[in-house]
Amino acid sequence: MSKVTLEDISRMVRSDPKVMKFLTYLIEEHVSRIIPRFDHVHGARYPDVEKLFPKESPTLIQQFLTKLANMGILIPIVHDKVIVCPFCGSYDINTHYCCPLCETYNIVRTILIEHILCGYIGTYEEFRRGDRLVCPRCKRQLFKPNADYRALGTFFKCENCGYRFDEPVIVHACRRCGKNFTYKEAIYTAIYAYDVNSEMKEELAKGLLLTTALKSILENEGFRVEAPAKVEGSSGTIHEFDIGARYYYGKDKSLFLVVEVVASEDEIDDRPVVRLFAKCYDTRPDVAILIAIPSLSDHARALCKLYKIMSIEASSIGGSIKKFQDLIRKIKESTSQRA
Ligand SMILES: [Zn+2]
Ligand SMILES: [Zn+2]
Ligand SMILES: [Zn+2]
Repeated sequence: MSKVTLEDISRMVRSDPKVMKFLTYLIEEHVSRIIPRFDHVHGARYPDVEKLFPKESPTLIQQFLTKLANMGILIPIVHDKVIVCPFCGSYDINTHYCCPLCETYNIVRTILIEHILCGYIGTYEEFRRGDRLVCPRCKRQLFKPNADYRALGTFFKCENCGYRFDEPVIVHACRRCGKNFTYKEAIYTAIYAYDVNSEMKEELAKGLLLTTALKSILENEGFRVEAPAKVEGSSGTIHEFDIGARYYYGKDKSLFLVVEVVASEDEIDDRPVVRLFAKCYDTRPDVAILIAIPSLSDHARALCKLYKIMSIEASSIGGSIKKFQDLIRKIKESTSQRA
């Protein structure tokens, strides 16, 4: 499986606000596996996820989990296999053991017993007299298995036609549409549990931690914060930033600041810098900050300077938080000097 980056995750989250809620739940509740519960109407139900989205139908929840599996956030695990009606799709299936001759399901399983002394062979029912076993031929009572009598084996007897046989025919009956079908026609489908992709969880936990930390730093410094922030540009286009924050000072002045976070395994190239510059060109924030984990390429760093984007490079989340704190204080100081 390829590495899931913070960038991938933020893209997924943007595609569906429900994803963020779900991911936060996974992290905060330390969930590592989503366990299904079987239901005759819907097949797989996921009670914990249903609790999280009480307005969603079980079918929508199934589709949501499939989507997350396609994104690589969840890994499907076959939890069970169940029989589904090939005619109507119902999970409410009864299974019958049937007589091979007359096909009725009114059959009984019985044991064949031999009375060792007289050699009589008959069914258990023929020998049974209340709670005793009595030979129907010689009328002697049987006490000890393997001394008085022995069990010759199990077989089935049809109560309808009297036929005796070793193996019944297995027939499924749908409780919804009433039709019968065999294993050859049945739909045999998987019920999935889902494991949380641990690599993703790690990245996500870091991502949430970082955004939460940056947000609270800004709020502590008196900023009004939105994360993510939607900002309309002069072109009319709505641009999204990881964080948007406004600081009010003086009489009616304010400073608007945007933050973007990029994380990668390797050095970060100039693409996120160019993207951020394009958005800033349209939205004109007072300050744009790019947090790059672990570092920027020389060219990307030079571009930041050219575009007047402040950059923070740090090998760790903790390091970037510290540098961000210092930078925000510096920005505030120079702002109040201007006021
Ligand atoms: Zn029969
Ligand atoms: Zn006997
Ligand atoms: Zn059916």
